[in-house]
Amino acid sequence: LPDLKDKVAVVTGAGSGIGRAAALMLAQQGMKVCLADLKDERRDQTVQEILSTGGQAISVDVDVADPIRVAEAFEEVAHAWGRLDFVFANAGINGVLAPIEDMKPEDWDRTLSVNLKGTFLCVKHAVPHMKEQGGSIVITSSINGSRKFSGFGMSAYSASKAGQVAFAKMAALELARYKIRVNAICPGSIKTNIGENTQPTPELQKIKIPVNYPEGSQPLEHAPGMPEQVADLVAFLASEASSHITGTELFIDGAESLL
Ligand code: NAD
Repeated sequence: LPDLKDKVAVVTGAGSGIGRAAALMLAQQGMKVCLADLKDERRDQTVQEILSTGGQAISVDVDVADPIRVAEAFEEVAHAWGRLDFVFANAGINGVLAPIEDMKPEDWDRTLSVNLKGTFLCVKHAVPHMKEQGGSIVITSSINGSRKFSGFGMSAYSASKAGQVAFAKMAALELARYKIRVNAICPGSIKTNIGENTQPTPELQKIKIPVNYPEGSQPLEHAPGMPEQVADLVAFLASEASSHITGTELFIDGAESLL
């Protein structure tokens, strides 16, 4: 993907899982990559890994739910590199998983704030830096917000992920006039550290959750996907190779959502 060389990317949630794999892949393609995440050792190790292989990377501390920090982070990137071509709005949490009647409004709010408001804030603050030359934005939703709704306790998560798909489509429509493309990707189960940010409540653990297929099974591979497989899709959507693709939701799930 030669058109990516020396272009500038911001990747949120870049310290782990899908974001980390995408940051490594984009740097390998010659992009200057800003790894935006909570202050995190794994994020800093990823920056070091990119630098040690001759790539270009910086990091910014940002909670994507914090409007001031998100605005500042995009200013920092503009200051460092003077342009912005690609945003991967990927940071997300499963958050507190609880039956609806036990879900605390503040736990609902936190999941929506990180996953949905965080996405809005990143797009909002990216646009002023992208609108002169155009660019591409990819939002990590999930099959759980679009095609397969499984697992009790995931109502806030699923609502946030569905909201991301709707937001991506509206943003694609609005931002086409600046030649900014916006797409949502919907991964199935991917082997990452997302379980660390999952908090099932005791109430949820009392419910027998119907599961209609073995955990993690996907028709194509019979195992969770790998973050590097998602990173390949992200690089394609960053590149001019996808120049006519905008406003879509792309499933990357080994057909898991069809089971
Ligand atoms: P992960 O936990 O491995 O990585 C998530 C990263 O986001 C971490 O580095 C974390 O520090 C960061 N993050 C969390 N809250 C943040 C905040 N408020 N501000 C900034 N950064 C924050 O998980 P992952 O699986 O790589 O998740 C990435 C995205 O993929 C999420 O949006 C998730 O919903 C989505 N997703 C994951 C799967 C899966 O099976 N792993 C499936 C579908 C969608």
